[in-house]
Amino acid sequence: MKTHGRIRGNCESITFAQGECSDGMCCFTCVIPPGNRHIGFFKSFWKSGTGYSYVKLLVTSEGYKDELYDSCKFLNFTISPDATRHHLAMDLRCSIYKFRPIQCVGYPDRAGESVYQSICGPCIFNEYAAPPAYKKLVYKREWKAFYAILDRPDAISGICVHDDPSVVRSMILEADGVERAAILGGRKDREYIIIPVQKQRENILYISEKHQPIATIRQAYAQWEEKIQNNLKSHYGEEWESRLKSAIEMEEKDACKRGNEDTSGNLE
Ligand code: SF4
Ligand code: SF4
Repeated sequence: MKTHGRIRGNCESITFAQGECSDGMCCFTCVIPPGNRHIGFFKSFWKSGTGYSYVKLLVTSEGYKDELYDSCKFLNFTISPDATRHHLAMDLRCSIYKFRPIQCVGYPDRAGESVYQSICGPCIFNEYAAPPAYKKLVYKREWKAFYAILDRPDAISGICVHDDPSVVRSMILEADGVERAAILGGRKDREYIIIPVQKQRENILYISEKHQPIATIRQAYAQWEEKIQNNLKSHYGEEWESRLKSAIEMEEKDACKRGNEDTSGNLE
């Protein structure tokens, strides 16, 4: 990825609309098999969502190649200012929610490409918002996520439903953390606006008794043992148990240290 320059302004960062699942991260990565095969034959005639073909999910981590994910054909992406006109909110929604495929209905209780898989795990946004110690153990790396919006008038018009696209584009570019970058698509570079994905779990995470946010490795492992164990085995082979044990010990030692510092009045 080649960045052409950073534009900073006084605007706040761009957040999500308040409501469950407004990040739509699983509609780029986990739920959809290659080529949107989950959609089926007839649904291929239905209208595409506003995010499809214009918005991608970019994942970066130090020492690894950037990863770029296309969205599902039916993902709607909207961005709009609030009443004060100083703040932007994004909302990512399924445009065929009532008719979405069975994989989407079951996720994250039933994860995986096959309809018959029933492995339950934390959803991808939950893992993104998890403490760094969890990601370092389960993914062997920390990673950041961004939405990459094609910087073209038709793309911006598609995602600004009620507002003047050129005004919204300027507001996006002034928001904190936003960059423009050239990303290789096909044979040539295309200009994208890159927006960091906020870790707003109190507002948007799908919360049920089964799906609480990840607070610690111990809690996540107790809840989603099978899925996490599979990851650990593939990363560490026979050493997976000792890695898990020492990561939990380290995390608990750090929490204890932080508690002692807090009570003695020395902030981190
Ligand atoms: S919160 Fe989880 S389940 Fe909901 S849209 Fe995001 S990744 Fe999907
Ligand atoms: S059908 Fe809807 S819920 Fe399923 S991946 Fe596509 S946008 Fe997401």
